[in-house]
Amino acid sequence: MKKQIEQLSAYQPGLSPRALKEQYGIEGELYKLASNENLYGPSPKVKEAIKNHLDELQFYPETGSPLIKEAISKHLNVDPARILFGAGLDEVILMISRAVLTAGDKIVTSEMTFGQYYHNAIVESADVVQVPLKEGGFDLEGILSEVDDNTKLVWLCNPNNPTGTYFTHNELKSFLERVPSHIPVIIDEAYVEFVTAEDFPNSLALQEAFSNAFLLRTFSKAYGLAGMRIGYVVAAQEAIEKWNIIRPPFNVGRLSEHAALAALADQDYLTSIREKNARERTKFFNLVKSDRLNPSQTNFIFVHTSKPHELYEALLKVGCITREFPNGVRITIGFPEQNDKMIEVLNNFNL
Ligand SMILES: *Cc1c(COP(=O)(O)O)cnc(C)c1O
Repeated sequence: MKKQIEQLSAYQPGLSPRALKEQYGIEGELYKLASNENLYGPSPKVKEAIKNHLDELQFYPETGSPLIKEAISKHLNVDPARILFGAGLDEVILMISRAVLTAGDKIVTSEMTFGQYYHNAIVESADVVQVPLKEGGFDLEGILSEVDDNTKLVWLCNPNNPTGTYFTHNELKSFLERVPSHIPVIIDEAYVEFVTAEDFPNSLALQEAFSNAFLLRTFSKAYGLAGMRIGYVVAAQEAIEKWNIIRPPFNVGRLSEHAALAALADQDYLTSIREKNARERTKFFNLVKSDRLNPSQTNFIFVHTSKPHELYEALLKVGCITREFPNGVRITIGFPEQNDKMIEVLNNFNL
């Protein structure tokens, strides 16, 4: 067994809604607002697409997900040779780490960001530098100052999970201008479809200009397909060719590929999700205590509190399962009814 695995633990899901209901004696519906899923689900056209392919379950998928690759290539206007699919971004992050990192290599990222960058680096015996947050968000200057000859990957998350914060186009551009061009800078944009800020990076343009800027996108969040497991990276062709060598041949299932095709084709639905989410998000920031909330460009909000567990429990009692952190609680934005209840809890809670 790899020695470094002893310092990690398997992913800990929260208690199931059923277990929580029992433990807290909750009557009525409990809503899962702990994993930033899209409660509205995917476009109705997705179910139709899945039904149309139910007679193919005995066949392996086509390797490399060529249909959705072609569709994404058109959608983003990038060469299909620069796109690689995984069973969710989780698998993409694993594949990149596995392909790139060996003992003594270093990755640089932030504290309070997506845990899989760290987790996979440790599995590959690499060293991890996590730069402290600055003003609640990514400290790009701090990250830049940690990049050295041993650095093999830089992981950025924009907007960031769990803080919800983002860095701007000019900040990212200035960062890319100064990172040595042989070091891959991987920009995880799992929540990009929820963004409404005008100064958010045009990362597609930046990755045209900087050959070491790579993008991660997923169907799990705004597209509502977390259960299907499909996400992708856009990178330099040479990198994709190498990473593709370690990709399990049939990593993305047939139904997942067809679900993603249907979801991508229904951009009107995606727009309606973005608008609904932005409307509900605004409600939270109308709170008197909104200075206790991180600004958010996502479908979740990070609430600062010195009593995260008490707040988590208070939210549970109104039927909302959220996610607790050492210095706060992350709330996934739900339907209007849950949001109104959570806002009332926040109003009455001594944060
Ligand atoms: C949810 C999430 C992922 C994982 O997405 P999957 O495609 O479902 O594996 C990756 N990065 C961030 C920042 C996320 O929040």
